[in-house]
Amino acid sequence: MFDYLIVGAGFAGAVLAERLASQANKKVLICDRRNHIAGNAYDHYDEHGLLVHKYGPHIFHTNSAEVFDYLSQFTEWRPYEHRVLADVDGQLLPIPINRTTVNKLYGLNLQTEEECAAYFQSVAEPKEQVRTSEDAVVSKVGRDLYEKFFEHYTRRHWGLDPKELDASVAARVPARNNTDDRYFTDKFQAMPLHGYTRMFEKMLSHPNIKVMLNTDYREILDLIPFKEMIYTGPVDEYFNFRFGKLPYRSLTFKHETHNKAQFQPQAVVNYPGPKDYNRITEFKYLTGQEHPKTSIVYEYPRAEGDPYYPVPRPENAELYRKYKTLADSTPGVYFVGRLATYRYYNMDQVVAQAMTTYTAITGACKLSVATVSETVGTGKVGSLPVLELPKVGVPAVAA
Ligand code: FAD
Ligand code: UDP
Repeated sequence: MFDYLIVGAGFAGAVLAERLASQANKKVLICDRRNHIAGNAYDHYDEHGLLVHKYGPHIFHTNSAEVFDYLSQFTEWRPYEHRVLADVDGQLLPIPINRTTVNKLYGLNLQTEEECAAYFQSVAEPKEQVRTSEDAVVSKVGRDLYEKFFEHYTRRHWGLDPKELDASVAARVPARNNTDDRYFTDKFQAMPLHGYTRMFEKMLSHPNIKVMLNTDYREILDLIPFKEMIYTGPVDEYFNFRFGKLPYRSLTFKHETHNKAQFQPQAVVNYPGPKDYNRITEFKYLTGQEHPKTSIVYEYPRAEGDPYYPVPRPENAELYRKYKTLADSTPGVYFVGRLATYRYYNMDQVVAQAMTTYTAITGACKLSVATVSETVGTGKVGSLPVLELPKVGVPAVAA
């Protein structure tokens, strides 16, 4: 009999499997319906020998020493600071918008942070309440920059007007008065030296953990006995869409390999103009790999397909609350991760959430919940993620 059946071998599932197996001596079965571990962070060598991220670029960054130290048990790191250019008006300009961006775009010569702040203030449209993604940008940098960098990209990515999306979405990419052109400002920024999948292999290598791929948990529910379940798939699917479908946004990835050493001048180039893809990533920048060829990926936003992005807007939060009430009253099942808690979480936030859940389940983790929730942040929004404690002391699943 397994102590835990964990559904999903992404960050949420793998962290919990590792903690429960290594710290609490629990017997864990982790299954995934895909043919690989690592969830959306999965990377692999393509047919040309280039390390690529199957589900789009995954760049690790965190402000949490606890999360970084925890993962460091399973990987060495390659220092990496991510930079992105946006293709606007025939130029490749830094995004997040900074002083260089406006100087180059408008032919200005703003020399100091004060001058740049004054410029933004002169074009900003003040809002009494910043509720939507349009508000978040227009209230800081005005309408022209909003239209050039955010409006179309956001509409394409989410299939919604920025007016219909929470402010927190566009606020992930806040404008700066300085010339810092890094995408993230977090304290820890690095890539797993040998890739994410290798890191996950180490996390799941404990003898108490058995991994089952190509397996939807519903195929084994009645076949394999276990005491409790940790579920990291879409929460609405778990409950057979009882209250209707929660909206998720998807992407199609088009991977290509080019017969040259370099394809573009930066790791990611965003296309906020009239294209049908939003960004192109060149993996060698992320991995540091040296190779005569180079592999890239285009991301095409889609309504249908694998659920990649919960869509942050009030009506969806309302629908999720109904599922959460149901999840909270489901004995013996813990809901963890980006899809199961319907949160637009980065990897470090999912790791922190999983560690918090481990604490709640066992009360045995060294980290306190407060420590994790106080220190983890995206480093972009400046606010902390909401880390809710899962229910404690759920009764075991009836045999
Ligand atoms: P997932 O990785 O989605 O894992 C859930 C797993 O559960 C999946 O493998 C799925 O197959 C499995 N599953 C679902 N239902 C079932 C079932 N019924 N039976 C069996 N298995 C099931 N974060 C960052 O920090 N930095 C980035 O640069 C970054 N870039 C991203 C780019 C893209 C395009 C996307 C989509 C996300 C990105 N993220 C990034 C977010 C990151 O992917 C997530 O935070 C993280 O992977 C979530 O982990 P998870 O375990 O919650 O979910
Ligand atoms: N965004 C945009 N233009 C850009 C970059 C981002 O409009 O050039 C908006 C868009 O709505 C996007 C959000 O900001 O979904 C968050 O961007 P981020 O790069 O964090 O998205 P992710 O990496 O999660 O896809």
